[in-house]
Amino acid sequence: MPDKKYYAAHKEELKKYHHEYFQKHYSEHKEEIKSKKKKYYAEHNEELNEHRRKHYATHKKQIGEYKSKQYKKERLIVLNHYGGKCAFCGDKNINHLCIDHINNDGGQHRKIVPASRLPRWLIKNNFPNGFQILCQNHNSEKQIHGIMTLAIYD
Ligand SMILES: [Zn+2]
Repeated sequence: MPDKKYYAAHKEELKKYHHEYFQKHYSEHKEEIKSKKKKYYAEHNEELNEHRRKHYATHKKQIGEYKSKQYKKERLIVLNHYGGKCAFCGDKNINHLCIDHINNDGGQHRKIVPASRLPRWLIKNNFPNGFQILCQNHNSEKQIHGIMTLAIYD
């Protein structure tokens, strides 16, 4: 029976000790641990898939909400990184903005990275060149007409 008082008084020490122990153990048995894990996953593949499938079915809503929250977060990071406004007219309303493939090769790129995963892809790839932020108007004008024009008010 571990002594609670002793544990409380030496909490940090014990934590450190355990942490170091596991670190050491892990680095000494890395390959063994890895291959055991791999074997376990291979042997229990179907069970695990079934578990995942069930989990997904019962938590569909939460997972969907989490994913869309993540997407919004990542989209915002990307929009801000590429200037946070329409590169043509300066519209800053994030509801109007979208990520534009400067060379209009979005169709090809979308085959590799679907639009829903584009923000995450851009973050992971360190914000590559070839992308800019446009408002929806200028994005579709560019795609349909190949040019961008400013709004005319009269
Ligand atoms: Zn614009």
